[in-house]
Amino acid sequence: MKLEKLPIEFEEALPLLEKIKKAGFEAYFVGGSVRDVLLDRPIHDVDIATSSYPEETKAIFERTVDVGIEHGTVLVLENGHEYEMTTFRTEDVYVDYRRPSSVSFVRSLKEDLKRRDFTVNAFALNEDREVIDLFDGLTDLENRVLRAVGIASERFNEDALRIMRGIRFSASLDFDIDKQTLAAMSACAPLLEKISVERSFIEFDKLLMAPHWSKGLDALIATGAYDYLPDFQGTASKWRAFQTLIKKDYQFLSSEQAWTAVMIVLAIAQPKGFLKKWKTSVQFQKRVTQMIEVFQSRQSSPLTSWQVYQYGKELIQEVEALRTAFGMEADFERLAKLDQDLLIHDKHDIVVNGGILMSELNLKPGPDLGRMLNQVEQAIVKGELFNDKEAIFNFVKNKI
Ligand code: ATP
Ligand code: MG
Repeated sequence: MKLEKLPIEFEEALPLLEKIKKAGFEAYFVGGSVRDVLLDRPIHDVDIATSSYPEETKAIFERTVDVGIEHGTVLVLENGHEYEMTTFRTEDVYVDYRRPSSVSFVRSLKEDLKRRDFTVNAFALNEDREVIDLFDGLTDLENRVLRAVGIASERFNEDALRIMRGIRFSASLDFDIDKQTLAAMSACAPLLEKISVERSFIEFDKLLMAPHWSKGLDALIATGAYDYLPDFQGTASKWRAFQTLIKKDYQFLSSEQAWTAVMIVLAIAQPKGFLKKWKTSVQFQKRVTQMIEVFQSRQSSPLTSWQVYQYGKELIQEVEALRTAFGMEADFERLAKLDQDLLIHDKHDIVVNGGILMSELNLKPGPDLGRMLNQVEQAIVKGELFNDKEAIFNFVKNKI
């Protein structure tokens, strides 16, 4: 199959393919971007696979960066862009179900395409705009089916992350998973325990953020993969609840918002500890915890200026949006008004501080002073006190 037109990203990268060819090697566009072009989806990174070995690639181009030589990847800087150029390789020996124990560089495109996970991820595109399709990926693309390259059970045994990738691709592409591939995913699901949590998180997160997350959850349930992910044992019915409680076409706005929904629907008692097990950042844990807090408070009461002050408008906006995902009412107007009316946005906006209170009103340092400052802060945020020196001095004098 020959493409009539290439997207600009590929057009701009064509001279690289030609340069490699001139030097006597082969080079192709490969991976997700070829799939996305065929699906008429926007592409992000242009990946190039080549028969040249890393040292040979480096000799062909003027500006290169070693980003992953041991995996055969060289970053080429050309016409203002960066391209990952990876030597054809096979990953033959997997000892621990995670990473190939050795990578062998090869000169054959076919060998390289064979080690890829799904047929629709195993296309190559050459400089004549011809699609090389060794595994009938075009038929699968036509039928919107995700199928493992080669013998499915072997492929998931080699690298169990492919199970998570499969679930996530079904959510992002809106593809069904081929029957045999799905059966192999189920059979190999226990191997997910051997996959690093960080890598599983990335895939799970992409699944939640995908437009067809509900389809991805179907695959998660069908494969039983949840049983082998941190703290998700026995959660099939909860994921089904997730699918019914949250509007199917809702598109999550951020990872934090998506995981907030997960914590709420799965009724996770200790979200922080849970997210720690998933090895997320402290910042991530904090934001999710805050979103849960606001969400829960909103079940019974309207937003307060203190919440807007504490968490910021953006976070609460996402919580209100999440309420709509659950079919509840959102109050964006009140949020905008509360935010607009805030006299301060930060403690440091207050015109007095501990030092000033001590010198002006003869207060002593210590916990009482801290409590006093907190009261001042709260009163200003609630609109009960102006952020004005005289007003604050009077307020404090009244309190002592
Ligand atoms: P995305 O659109 O999310 O970037 P992608 O298909 O480009 O999807 P990448 O993770 O960027 O996925 O990987 C690029 C390509 O490398 C894939 O299309 C696939 O051919 C191959 N690949 C990546 N990870 C694996 C894996 N674990 N096993 C086999 N092949 C893989
Ligand atoms: Mg990619």
